[in-house]
Amino acid sequence: MRDQDCLFCKIIAGEIPSTKVYEDEWVYAFRDINPQAPVHVLVVPKEHICCTDAVDGSNSQYVAKCFEAVAKIAKAEGLENGYRVINNCGADGGQTVMHLHFHILGGVKLGEKMI
Ligand code: 5GP
Ligand code: ZN
Repeated sequence: MRDQDCLFCKIIAGEIPSTKVYEDEWVYAFRDINPQAPVHVLVVPKEHICCTDAVDGSNSQYVAKCFEAVAKIAKAEGLENGYRVINNCGADGGQTVMHLHFHILGGVKLGEKMI
């Protein structure tokens, strides 16, 4: 189910353009508009789930499918030396778009500090 006011729901529906890198029945993935690394892909479930805090037994299969997609995308993007997957949750977590998403960052040796 989509949220009419949600930016990522609009991107999934093709109402706002994006650079798609992967899509299946469960997941849509596209390049971040403001990349923080040479490879910066956003992996989003096709179901509107606001955030990690809303994940439960009724929707966690979307999370599993997102991570299956992460592994496929990383291979396709040539990230054989590794990469980082980030999820920001809520205001204190720095989440700005309230549709669950996982950032894949790679293509460079990332710093060892998490924050
Ligand atoms: P958050 O801060 O919520 O974890 O991440 C949201 C991400 O969405 C940011 O990295 C931001 O650059 C990206 N973003 C925001 N609006 C758009 C957009 O219209 N298109 C794309 N491709 N990325 C966007
Ligand atoms: Zn949404």
